Amino acid sequence: MQNYKMYIGGKWVDAVSGRTFATVNPSTGEELGRVPLAGKEDVDKAAKAANEALPVWSKMTQSDRAKAILRFAAAVKEHSKELIDLEVNEHGTPVMLARGFAAAAVDQLEYIASISRGIMGQVLPQSMPNTVGYLQRVPIGVCAVITPWNVPLMMMLSMVGPAMVTGNTCILKPASVNSVLGVKFTEILEKADIPKGVMNLVTGPGGSVGDALATHPGIDMIRFTGATDTGQVILKAASKTVKKCIMELGGNNPIIVCEDADVEKAAKLQAGRHYGNSAQNCSTPGRYYVHENVYDKFVEVFVEEVKKIKVGLPWEESTTMGPMANLQQLEKVEYYIKTAREEGARIVCGGARPTTPPLDKGYFLMPTVVADCKHEMTIVKEEIFGPAAPILKFSSEEEAIKLANDSSYGLCAGVWTRDGSKALRITGELRVDSVFVNMPRMMTPEFPWGGNVKESGVGKSDSVCGMEEFTDLKFICISYS
Ligand code: NDP
Repeated sequence: MQNYKMYIGGKWVDAVSGRTFATVNPSTGEELGRVPLAGKEDVDKAAKAANEALPVWSKMTQSDRAKAILRFAAAVKEHSKELIDLEVNEHGTPVMLARGFAAAAVDQLEYIASISRGIMGQVLPQSMPNTVGYLQRVPIGVCAVITPWNVPLMMMLSMVGPAMVTGNTCILKPASVNSVLGVKFTEILEKADIPKGVMNLVTGPGGSVGDALATHPGIDMIRFTGATDTGQVILKAASKTVKKCIMELGGNNPIIVCEDADVEKAAKLQAGRHYGNSAQNCSTPGRYYVHENVYDKFVEVFVEEVKKIKVGLPWEESTTMGPMANLQQLEKVEYYIKTAREEGARIVCGGARPTTPPLDKGYFLMPTVVADCKHEMTIVKEEIFGPAAPILKFSSEEEAIKLANDSSYGLCAGVWTRDGSKALRITGELRVDSVFVNMPRMMTPEFPWGGNVKESGVGKSDSVCGMEEFTDLKFICISYS
């Protein structure tokens, strides 16, 4: 088993304590590699290196920083096989999907580089004679990037890329279970010939390393994606040094299927998309509200589609759903399925781990459909973050909107209807950051994600507005009288 190092100030180093921890292959339960278990002293070293690199990197021209990101994109393309292998072996992503992520990673970095050259400030209306006032976009400073485990490669680059291109220096802390992928990501970034200290990597548990980042006086910003309760802890910790925090947090996304919808298409497309990445996506629907007159048809077609999913070892070409990424998450989803059964829902397919070898060893769970749910059930109320789809009946538009909005989350929603004015009415009433009409969630770098609705986050990610979050608007006023 290989031992890996962290990257601080352009050097590959062990933790000051010399301690390490292992990551595990979720398909087999076997250890994959060991990484340094960082502590506060390592975070101090990384913050020092990032601060030392900041003056040069932040003053570099925008075109030079964009070109550095393009070199990174080219390196990701050249080394995509290594990234794909790790997505498959450390996260359990089916190889077909992992290839898609690697291609999307290159595309996203190219997009980040290109739009960064168009980011502009603003000249303000003249309010005093012989003066000019303007807003200049400047980097925030040193940015700690704390990523979740669910889509590891995409999460790292979609946060580190815009942070760096806008002139910030970074300290990346990947999810512990994806630490080897974090090392590989950094090794590839090093090939892009980016000045030492601009990107630093620390590996270790959120409770200690993450907290040291959130409280560090030498860090100006936290860019976090993860669970809402972790986000709350980070916001509190970061408040001591008043850092800017951009947080993409949890969701429990409602889909409303109206009586006039193309029900077959809705069920097919939603079921086809629901279980991708073992449904471990913040955008995965958490509850399907289906009009009572089309409910049976929706459930029937949804289940037919789910039965086509091929659960298997992620490195096999035919696999469309691999294991869950870790045991803790598998047990959490099993708990939701158990409570659904106890509370009176009907498990129409799946509901258990596969028992035939070799799938009996890893963290596999069969794709599960839970019909006849009630809005009060635990599986409907909480974020599942795994392969179980709860389906409920509704009888009026008002009821569907009320139930969809009855959540502490507000990340995204979907509406299926053939009636244009109904679509506008419902999308207008839903309290969420994004709504998708007659389509499952579409992800492209051009589209923004997240926002400020309820407990699902603070600030935007992706698109131009997501990049702008990594900048401050500095006001400058000059008298020329
Ligand atoms: P967690 O919140 O458990 O972990 C996310 C990251 O935070 C990990 O790197 C973790 O480290 C770290 N961390 C944990 N505790 C602390 C702490 N006290 N201080 C600082 N950092 C800490 O999330 P998951 O990885 O379990 O991801 C799943 C969650 O992420 C779901 O709720 C999902 O909805 C959300 N998510 C939201 C997205 C969005 O765009 N809105 C996108 C993707 C996921 P360690 O790994 O060591 O525990």
